[in-house]
Amino acid sequence: MDLLADAAERDRTDPLAHTRDLFVPSATPLVAYLDGNSLGRPLKATRERLTALVDGAWGTRLIRSWDEQWMDLPFVVGDALGAACLGAAPGQTAIGDSTTVLLYKLLRSAVAHAGPSRPEIVLDSENFPTDRYVAEGIAVETGAKLVWLHPDPSRGVTVDDVAAVVGPHTGVVLLSHVAYKSGYLSDLPSITRVAHNAGALVLWDLCHSAGSVPVTLDAAGVDLAVGCSYKYLNGGPGAPAFCYVASRLQPVLSQPIQGWMGNSDVFAMGPSYAPAAGMRRFISGTPPVLAMTGIQDTIALIDSVGIEAVREKSTGLCEFVIAYVDSSLAEYGVQVASPRDSAQRGGHVTLSHPDARSLVAALWERDVIPDFREPDGIRIGAAPLSTSYAEVAQGLLSLESLLRSAP
Ligand SMILES: *Cc1c(COP(=O)(O)O)cnc(C)c1O
Repeated sequence: MDLLADAAERDRTDPLAHTRDLFVPSATPLVAYLDGNSLGRPLKATRERLTALVDGAWGTRLIRSWDEQWMDLPFVVGDALGAACLGAAPGQTAIGDSTTVLLYKLLRSAVAHAGPSRPEIVLDSENFPTDRYVAEGIAVETGAKLVWLHPDPSRGVTVDDVAAVVGPHTGVVLLSHVAYKSGYLSDLPSITRVAHNAGALVLWDLCHSAGSVPVTLDAAGVDLAVGCSYKYLNGGPGAPAFCYVASRLQPVLSQPIQGWMGNSDVFAMGPSYAPAAGMRRFISGTPPVLAMTGIQDTIALIDSVGIEAVREKSTGLCEFVIAYVDSSLAEYGVQVASPRDSAQRGGHVTLSHPDARSLVAALWERDVIPDFREPDGIRIGAAPLSTSYAEVAQGLLSLESLLRSAP
């Protein structure tokens, strides 16, 4: 069967095929959008929700909206996200600052909680730069010691890697659930258990999992997590991140950016800071109401179709890409740089080719949009709710025609 016919058949039987029409169509030609893991597409409902916000809660209710709904919005949206995507019971998830700032706040809290007898932060050299940079800054600031793992770049951090380094001096283990380059899906429950057995806390970065791979934070006993909302959650450029703090830790953690919005009585304007109970203490300044508005529609959509169905389509799309690389693109030097076993892979597939950078540039000129990742990666992030098999097939055929015509 040829690729397009195969794709058409898969689209015909795809239980999530209908969700693609819920997204705002591109106003200019777009052959294939394969970068939903960097910036998700907007839902039509989000356009309406933003307009309604400007006209209603902002334009009409004005300052009254803080009392009527905005003060609690970080927690209302956080709880909805926790239920739909994170396996988190209410009262443990809040929408806040950027991922970077929330990483700082939670990692700094965890280091302080661990205390001087457990000064080590375990992290890996393949993690996203901001995670590594934040940890480096905290090490300078607090004297914490960084214990680096160097996983195979085509995979990621395994249970054994972590087990080999944690011990009586480990304060916190900081890892990404899905590796941003290889797509490797770490074993979150087992790694969490290994860290806990050593007496350490875990902080998971869920940027590439939230809205793509089901997460079971409560069931796995995770301590802390952060993740962003402009990737698979389609919150829009710069939409704020979320943080999760297990209920048991909330009373004993204090975060470093003590602002008035995290105070126990926000409008008392008192002489000094006293942290609020619950998740409010992890808020610093005025919540980004406009910026967290877009996330809500995707959370509602995922809640209605179920995160397991999203994951199933995601796996199908990735396997579709891998099968075509093997059958038709390998002969041009394209390799699969992600784990082949779907159980060990998140929502994207990374291909490698020596000319990846120029190939991606040429694809963009043809309105096929994957992304390039150093040193030789073509990252295919087909967001399951907004991407059809036909679209992925068109992208693969464009890549093949470029490879065939290469000098
Ligand atoms: C995208 C991403 C980030 C982004 O951090 P921002 O502060 O939102 O820019 C952080 N960590 C990981 C693993 C990511 O994939």
